[in-house]
This record gives sequence, C-alpha cells and structure tokens, in this order.
Amino acid sequence: MIGGYMGKLLWVDLSTRAIRTETPDDSLYHKFIGGYGVGSRLLYDRMQAGTDPLGPGNILGLMTGPLTGSPAISGARYQAVARSPLTGGWGDANSGGHFGPALKSAGYDGVYFTGISEKPVYLLVDNGRAELKDASHLWGKDTYATEDILHAEYGASAKVVSIGPAGEKLSLIAGIITHRGDAAARAGLGAVMGSKRLKAVVAKGEMKVPVADIETANRLRAEHIEDLKSTGFLERFHQYGTGGHGDISAHSGDSPVRNWGGIGVIDTPDVSGLNKDKVIANLDRRTGCWRCPAACKGSLKAGPAEYPYPAGTHRLEYETMGALGVNCGNTNVPSIEMASHICNAYGMDTISAGGVIAFAMECYENGIIDRNDTDGIELTWGNSHAVVAMTEKMVKREGFGDVLADGVMRAAQRIGKGSEKFAVHSGGQELGLHDPKIASHQFAGMPSAAMYWLNSTPGRHTQAFGPPGFINHLNNALGICIIIFDQRVARGPYQEKMMRAVTGLDRSMDELLKAGERIANMRHVFNLREGLNPLKHHFHGRIWGNPPQTEGPLAGVTCDLKDEAYWYLGALDWDRFTTKPSRKKQEELGLNDIAEELWPPK
Ligand code: SF4
Repeated sequence: MIGGYMGKLLWVDLSTRAIRTETPDDSLYHKFIGGYGVGSRLLYDRMQAGTDPLGPGNILGLMTGPLTGSPAISGARYQAVARSPLTGGWGDANSGGHFGPALKSAGYDGVYFTGISEKPVYLLVDNGRAELKDASHLWGKDTYATEDILHAEYGASAKVVSIGPAGEKLSLIAGIITHRGDAAARAGLGAVMGSKRLKAVVAKGEMKVPVADIETANRLRAEHIEDLKSTGFLERFHQYGTGGHGDISAHSGDSPVRNWGGIGVIDTPDVSGLNKDKVIANLDRRTGCWRCPAACKGSLKAGPAEYPYPAGTHRLEYETMGALGVNCGNTNVPSIEMASHICNAYGMDTISAGGVIAFAMECYENGIIDRNDTDGIELTWGNSHAVVAMTEKMVKREGFGDVLADGVMRAAQRIGKGSEKFAVHSGGQELGLHDPKIASHQFAGMPSAAMYWLNSTPGRHTQAFGPPGFINHLNNALGICIIIFDQRVARGPYQEKMMRAVTGLDRSMDELLKAGERIANMRHVFNLREGLNPLKHHFHGRIWGNPPQTEGPLAGVTCDLKDEAYWYLGALDWDRFTTKPSRKKQEELGLNDIAEELWPPK
C-alpha cells in the first residue's frame, strides 16, 4: 500500500447491521486522491440516479485524505459526502477538528453508510474494529452532551462526530458537528445522518498513518511553518482567525448586508462592535485543529446574562459572523455568539441559518409576514434578540421555526405571498458570505459569481469554479486546510513535495491538479445524472448585481454572468448550453466509462 493511506474503507449497512471492510484498488486513490474525490467516484458508482436523499439508498460517506493525520500542516480535515437533500444534487461538506486523524488512527481512510437503522445507533471504530451500538440514550441530546457522554465512555482520545436535534428532525440545513463546533455543515448532510438514525461516529486507535519518508516529511513541515512565520501569517491568523475583518468587510461591500439587498455603510453605519479586538474580547483561550500551527480558533468564556452561551463556545468564524450578523442587519457580537452556539449545539449550518433569518426579516419588514406568523417575534433588521430567538425556534422546529428550518427556498414556498423575490439562494442553498461583486469590481471583472452559481454544491465559494477550483479540489481531497496551506510562501507550493514524502509516489503538481480536475468532473456528472444543469438553476439577481446597487462601494456593479460561464465552461471543455463534459476531456482524464455514458455510440 502506498504511504498516507490506511488502505481500508468501512461499509456499514444500517438496515441489516452488516459491516464490511473494503480494500480499494490503489488506482482509486491515484485517480481521486481522497476526501470527496474518492467519495464522488464511489457514490456515482454505487448509488442509483434519483435516490431519495433521505431514503435508505442514499450513501453517506465520511472520508479523509492522504495528508490527514500526516506531518503536513493542517492535515486535520475530513469531508462528508452524500446526495444533498437541500439541493437535490451532489453534496459535500468539510470540517477540521480532530476526527479525521482519529479515523485514520482507528485504521480507516473512510466510512460509508447505507440503509436506515430501525433504532438510533452510533458507530464505534476502535483500532481496526467496528461495531454499531445503541444510541437511544443519546437521541434528543445536543452535540455537546453527546460528545461528553461518549468521551466519558471511551476517553478523551476518542473523537466524535454527531448530529444534534436539528439533524434528528431532518432539518435540511442541519450539519454534522465535531469538537463542539467544528462543522461539516453545508448541503444538509446532517439531515441525511438523521434520516439514517445514525447519531454519532466515535473513532479511536493508535494506528500510525504510514509515511514513506518521515524525515523529509518532518523537514518539510518545519520549513513550511518557518515560511508562514516569515510572512507574519501565522501570528496574525493565530491572533484573530477568520473573524479579524468583520467591520472592514461590512463596509467594503465584502459582507452581504440585509439579505444581500442592503449597503453596509448606509444600513449598518456603526460596525465598531465587529472590530477584531472586540470580536475576541470574551476569548478564554486559543485552540485549533489537530496539530495545526496556526491554531486559528478559540474557546470563549461564558456569555453575558443577556446572551448566556456556555463557557467553551467556539469563537466566531467570519462566515458565521456575516450570516447571523450584518446579513440580518445585526452588529451585536454576543448575540451572534449565542446564535452560533445554538447552531453548534443543535447541529445546524450557521451560514444557512443566517440566510433564512435574513430572508424572514425582509418578509417581515415588507408586511408579507407579521407577529401573528412569527410567534410574536419582531423580525426587524438588526434586532439581535430576534436573531437568537428565531435560531432557537428553527433548531427545535418550533412554531415559525418549522417554516424556516429547511432553508430559504422551501420557506418561500411555504410562505408564498410573493416572498420568493426575497429568497436569496443558489440552486437551493444559502450562500457563503463574500459578495462576488467586490472581486468583479476590484479586480477588473475577475470571474467571481460563477463559483456560487455553477459549483456542484451551489452557494459555496470555498471550492471556486472552473480551473481555479482544481487546486481547492486537490487540497480538500488531500485532507488539508485551504486557509493555511495555500498561503503563498517562498518555498511553496508544498502539495507536491509533501505528497511525495508521505506517499512515496513521484507525482508532479500538474498531475495532482489533473486529479483536482477529475474530481470537478466527477462531482458534476453526478449532478448531470440527476438531470441538474447549473445554468438553469435559480441564482438570485442580488448576488450578481441585477439590478445593480445604486449607492455604496458596489454601486453600478453587475457581474457578467454569461461571460463568466462562457469562459469557464470553455476552459473545462464542458458544453456551453448543456454543460456536458466532452468525450475528449473525459478520456483525457481517464474517465472512459463516463465518456461512454455521456456519449453512447449512435
Ligand atoms: S488554519 Fe485554522 S481551520 Fe485551518 S486547520 Fe488550522 S486551525 Fe483548523
């Protein structure tokens, strides 16, 4: 077996309780690297088109990469994959923390679940052994309590991913949580886990990830850290994490304001509360993912009486701060921390939660709904108490929270009365919190909206779209963190060198990027098989400036969507109308079977 991999995948049929170990052919890892790369190939091959995302046929995978648990910095990631119940298409979600390395120490590169359990269960993976256990004592508990109970049973070295009540109640914006707030939150994969009555996965073990040349790998790690220190990145990022620019982003046009329809400098003139030092004012200690030298996260002291989140709540990430903050017109940090804590404990995506509350606020402000609909909550812009109260109702599916708990698109369908015009989403998913118009404006029309529009998991920006996305697909498949690993440093990029040291395989960066392109194609053909053409899915005009804003830093800016799509689809060699990848491209990527399916002989 090549280095970096444990060489084993677990398959768990929750309907029959059968568990088997598969030893995949090396070629699967060669071609798709790991993470959602391997996941996309396996799900395409083993799942029927048209499978109900919440039915027994959906496959839920938790998958690491070859650098997960290796000396590579930030090798802490795993990805969840399944057909998304939120978008109906390909779904993946990414998380740091400690679970990924623990799964490899337990002996596996990934675990895949099929079927539906009769009763709530959790999976214990312990040093090469796997067992389904009764989870009736955990069902209904939040993710913090679930982790605490399982840690008490298996020790602190056991790492846990779990769903909270939001996933159990099949909220389509539910996520999978580890480490009290590291979330594989996107695409509603927490609901898939809930539909399978799978409460948690516990991984523990002492197995070592095989490394072909440990001395070189350790030297590269040390050099990479040195390089990152020399740029000042490590110190800066350790200090503030991703939340160090909330005030700047709110006024520059980077952060969407008031459901993507507002203007920061006008609608939230005072953003002093979002200043980087104020955002960390209640910080107790800095924390991070497994062996990451940046340790860009943090743990808070207990919240104030008005917003009493518990000690240990995760400090705010930028996306959470934007979604539950200025996108709702809210600049009150303790309230955002409280809402973030509720999402983490109950297992809900903070990005989607903020998006749907912002939508409801706009409906309220425009008289489409009133206090009679909202259980008496005044959903006015900037009402920080309302943000917290509605978050709590959503995660519990109580009252009006039940209307909102499946995301913006379905909330608009339920409310009707013209509310659809305020439903800001891309293909069914709420968007990440960087307005693509700013890149288009500041970098002379740089393609930007396409990544939200055409991505296989629409609404995400962290994967990019088209050729710039290949490096992100590679990084995700490797099991490393795109935030830190792709910082430009003197002796970088490190992917090629570290892969060589860890796996022992001599693969050039071009070859690795080709794998990134293969993954982009695999995710896309999964959607094509479901009849999804991204050019046809809903993409709200506010995202790309149609009509453009009339004031503020983005006044007059409209992204040229058609132009972006034209160039990107051309560069991918995907048809500019059907988005079907060419036969030539599939053959070039070694996806000959896909070429045959897409282009059957006449
Ligand atoms: S940079 Fe932050 S998010 Fe990325 S791996 Fe390190 S601690 Fe985790």
